[in-house]
Amino acid sequence: MSWYNGSMDESLARELALLREFGFTHLDLGGGQAPSPVHGELELDVLGREASACVQCRLSKSRTQVVWGVGNPNADLMFIGEAPGRDEDIKGQPFVGRAGQLLTDIIKAMKLTRDDVYIANVIKCRPPDNRNPEPDELDACRPYIRRQVELIKPKVIVALGRFGLQSLTEKAYSITSVRGSWLEYNGIKLMPTYHPAYLLRNPDAKKDVWNDMKKVMAELGMSA
Ligand code: URA
Repeated sequence: MSWYNGSMDESLARELALLREFGFTHLDLGGGQAPSPVHGELELDVLGREASACVQCRLSKSRTQVVWGVGNPNADLMFIGEAPGRDEDIKGQPFVGRAGQLLTDIIKAMKLTRDDVYIANVIKCRPPDNRNPEPDELDACRPYIRRQVELIKPKVIVALGRFGLQSLTEKAYSITSVRGSWLEYNGIKLMPTYHPAYLLRNPDAKKDVWNDMKKVMAELGMSA
């Protein structure tokens, strides 16, 4: 629970101040109609600004910037990866390096663009030398991805690789065992597949990922 520590009051106050700046005078705490998509978009934006100053773990010391997420805040399809690499740390956007180009190609093959979907990582700051994220770093960052999912409300999530899958769900799935089979996260269909960086090293696995994406397209009512 490291995220919900003493700084919560302060962060809530900042969030409320920002909402006020955006012209909100009342807060709907539920019980009535579902919050509008505009409200979700705004909260996503506010949370992203807050995250840009995050110091909840040691990665904040070495990052150039926080890599929050890009795409359609009301997307039906969300891709969740591991952590920013060098290119992402410099550009401030997820999946813009070599693995990112491959993800962009996969999205295009699905007859979509990066603007149609939402792309984010379970870790928002680059681990030095692209090392694997540490368990405490994953714990510190997890509330962000979970809130992003809550606000975007995708119909389908594609988890790219082990860390994206395990950290979101907090389950010790093996990616090779569950790849290609539907899982569920908080009532949302979850498709685990290989990480694009793995595909760069193992191009033969591209056909498996394409089969997984065909299942995703069918679930979303898209023709392959
Ligand atoms: N790998 C990831 O998991 N995420 C990125 O943003 C880039 C590479």
